Amino acid sequence: MSAQPSVPDVDNATLEDRLYTVKYEDPGDSHLDVKVPGFCAERCDTDDCIDVCPAGVWQQTDDGVPQIAYENCLECGSCRFACPLNNVVWEYPENGAGVTYRHG
Ligand code: SF4
Ligand code: SF4
Repeated sequence: MSAQPSVPDVDNATLEDRLYTVKYEDPGDSHLDVKVPGFCAERCDTDDCIDVCPAGVWQQTDDGVPQIAYENCLECGSCRFACPLNNVVWEYPENGAGVTYRHG
C-alpha cells in the first residue's frame, strides 16, 4: 500500500489564515493584464474576474477597467477562464518568482 500524504498541521480556519501560509516573491512586473481595456469598460457586464479570484487580486475601479494587485496572485488560473470575453492576459511570473506553497 502506498503512503498517504501527510496533512499539514496548520490552523487554517479562515481564508486569511490559509493565505498566511503562502509565500510570495514579487516578480517586479505584472504577469496579469487585460488584453483590451475597452472591452472591460464598454462590453463587459460581469465582474467575473473579480468574483472568481480567491486572493482579491482584481479590484473594481470607477472606469470599469479592473485594477490588478498581481503581487497577491495564487496562480490558480481561474480569472483566465472566468472572463467571458477572453480578455485576460495570464502568464507565469518570470524567473521562478511568484507564489510558493509551504505545505505542498
Ligand atoms: S471579466 Fe474580463 S472583460 Fe470583464 S472586467 Fe474582468 S477582465 Fe474585463
Ligand atoms: S490566477 Fe487565481 S489568484 Fe491569480 S489573479 Fe487569477 S483568479 Fe486570482
